[in-house]
Amino acid sequence: MTKILIVEDEPKVATFIKRGLDESGFECEVAYDGLMGRKLFNNQAFDLVILDINLPHVNGLELCNEFRLMNADLPIIMLTALGTTEDKLSGFDSGADDYLVKPFEFRELLARIRSLLKRSSNNTGGNNILSFQDLSMNLDTYEVSRSGQKIELTQKEFALLEYFIRNKGRVLSRVDIAEKVWDITFDTGTNVIDVYVNFLRKKIDKDFEQKLIHTQTGVGYVLKAG
Ligand code: CA
Repeated sequence: MTKILIVEDEPKVATFIKRGLDESGFECEVAYDGLMGRKLFNNQAFDLVILDINLPHVNGLELCNEFRLMNADLPIIMLTALGTTEDKLSGFDSGADDYLVKPFEFRELLARIRSLLKRSSNNTGGNNILSFQDLSMNLDTYEVSRSGQKIELTQKEFALLEYFIRNKGRVLSRVDIAEKVWDITFDTGTNVIDVYVNFLRKKIDKDFEQKLIHTQTGVGYVLKAG
């Protein structure tokens, strides 16, 4: 299901958008301020983001910049009550794909969402890069880097990292990992998953202050920021 993040501090507007998108078959999460928006973004995978500009704590332009750095292909639509050319330009400068001035009709928002999603699904062949925070992996060239620093991974470690990034924010059990990455049914007598997760941690987390792979005691592992 296509998942959309809505960052909007006016409850009425947020509800109006969420209700419309729910009815149109999208799954939505709403954040009512910039910090909450950042937190949701860091811990879940979204297909598109709708961002208000004037937000408490962290404004939409700043968030847009951050989201764009972490994910070059993510469609982002900015919303604002301000309709001047300068505002539009600063929205595009910060990496937004589209811009809508409040008040707007829901069907206009929906049309733009559909067109951006269509464009991004057409693009996926050209630019096969998955990223999370400062970590990025190229599925075509097998290059992995963190904060611009190259990281060498074995084939299995690469597959494991890909699985983590595609499921960022989700706690993955050893059974999930065994089935999806190793294509085997998990045998409780083996600790191969823990061994490989630790190999991967040494390569992507050891030299960095912010750890990305976290242990969820008794359950498994989760890729998240802090
Ligand atoms: Ca606002």
